[in-house]
Amino acid sequence: MRVMAQVAMVMNLDKCIGCHTCSVTCKQTWTNRAGVEYAWFNNVETKPGVGYPRRYEDQERWKGGWMLDQRGRLVLRSGGRVKRLLSLFSNPDLPSIEDYYEPVTYDYDNLVGAPAGTDIPVARPRSVLTGKPTAITWGANWEDGLGGAPEHAGGDPNLTGEWARKVRFEFEQTFLFHLPRLCEHCLNPACVSACPSGAMYKRVEDGVVLVDQDRCRGWRMCVTACPYKKVYVNHATGKAEKCTFCFPRIEAGQPTVCSETCVGRLRYLGLLLYDADRVGAAAATSDEKDLLDAQRGVFLDPRDPEVRAAARESGIPEDWLDAARRSPVHDLVSRYRVALPLHPEYRTLPMVWYVPPLSPVLDAVDAAGGDQDDPDHVFAAVTRLRIPLEYLAELFTAGDTDAVAGVLMKLTALRSYMRERTLGETGDDAVLKAVGLTTREAEDLHRLLAVAKYADRYVVPAAHKEDAAALTALEGRCPVGTSGEAEPRRVMLGIPTLRRDTTAGGHP
Ligand code: SF4
Ligand code: SF4
Repeated sequence: MRVMAQVAMVMNLDKCIGCHTCSVTCKQTWTNRAGVEYAWFNNVETKPGVGYPRRYEDQERWKGGWMLDQRGRLVLRSGGRVKRLLSLFSNPDLPSIEDYYEPVTYDYDNLVGAPAGTDIPVARPRSVLTGKPTAITWGANWEDGLGGAPEHAGGDPNLTGEWARKVRFEFEQTFLFHLPRLCEHCLNPACVSACPSGAMYKRVEDGVVLVDQDRCRGWRMCVTACPYKKVYVNHATGKAEKCTFCFPRIEAGQPTVCSETCVGRLRYLGLLLYDADRVGAAAATSDEKDLLDAQRGVFLDPRDPEVRAAARESGIPEDWLDAARRSPVHDLVSRYRVALPLHPEYRTLPMVWYVPPLSPVLDAVDAAGGDQDDPDHVFAAVTRLRIPLEYLAELFTAGDTDAVAGVLMKLTALRSYMRERTLGETGDDAVLKAVGLTTREAEDLHRLLAVAKYADRYVVPAAHKEDAAALTALEGRCPVGTSGEAEPRRVMLGIPTLRRDTTAGGHP
């Protein structure tokens, strides 16, 4: 067992109101610069919808992530080293600016500087790239609030199979939810393994995936390899940039900017301990539907004395072990198992997980003429919710509807039980028992999901600057599982060096 620690995130999708505050504050912090106007390290997209960039989830088209070859070995979908070298100067699997969107600004000066006349002055849109007037025809969340959904949302790559006929983009028959996305800081990051320059790396001490700007040669293999399309090319510098998980804040024990400013208070940050020796086997699990359990199997129980002893041996500091024990992410992912990874079938073992959205379940009970107090009626309604199970399964469980239904039933039981308690009744333990929760666990999970305070949502231990030298000595012991073709990767070199190495200028 090789214990490693990773700072990970969970988002509770039921609480996202799609306000985009997270995206805007992230942009103000990290990409408010020339060259990355089109880049949103954090974006919020409407689902169903084609996403940002367009149809990024269509890996047949974009060749992102990993797959198993005929011999069951894990290989990059974008091809082996030879294929990637041959496409260095002509890579057909890269999204163009049209797939993202053309960034615009407006002629604001015209509002105050236009000559006096009978017409009201307007601020016309102007392309940030060309400086010329332009028409706005696409954006990073074009189907926001389902606007334009009848025309575009059918292009959502998750709407496959017979069940997708159930999805109607018509008034009173439709549904939507918001999906905030950022780099997943994967345990098995395809971007790191695809980089020919060794510029992409995963930090040993906290798992944050970064780009060394000095090493980046702008080959863009990382853009193709990332199935979430969360690496962006800065067209001013020609180099790759991506979400840094706000490492200067994380190192100071503070939450990321998107978490700090989240209006819905739906983000959770905490440590997950995992066994690095199990990562490769988990990513190579043969049946896609087993990938969720395989990834859960990589995570370790921070309360287990054996795990704690092995973690100490690996050099994980005592305060980090304490933080891992209090981690809300561990509770939601492993203890209560209500959080799910986005597209586990990409085999990168993503580390930003989601509590799936629960449609108004009691409405569904009523619509079927059921009894809201009967657990059987309530659980049966989960399969008839407005958001089809199949759709959520495409997003979070590689198509396994039972796994999604299990989570939704747990959330439904919790909602039903706590509703009774709130109304002054005792609450029916049988509902909880049916989903494997005790009353104490239900209260704890309710506290975590519904009313958790800042200190409960963000348990981020500060970095140990004094360990920087030792971490440098670990160079080459990167936790990344490889396909047998990746180079050893660099690790953290200390906080001042990190600031200089990993991103272009202009950051706080
Ligand atoms: S999500 Fe992030 S860590 Fe994972 S492959 Fe993409 S850029 Fe790399
Ligand atoms: S700030 Fe929070 S609530 Fe608003 S869009 Fe972002 S994740 Fe959703």
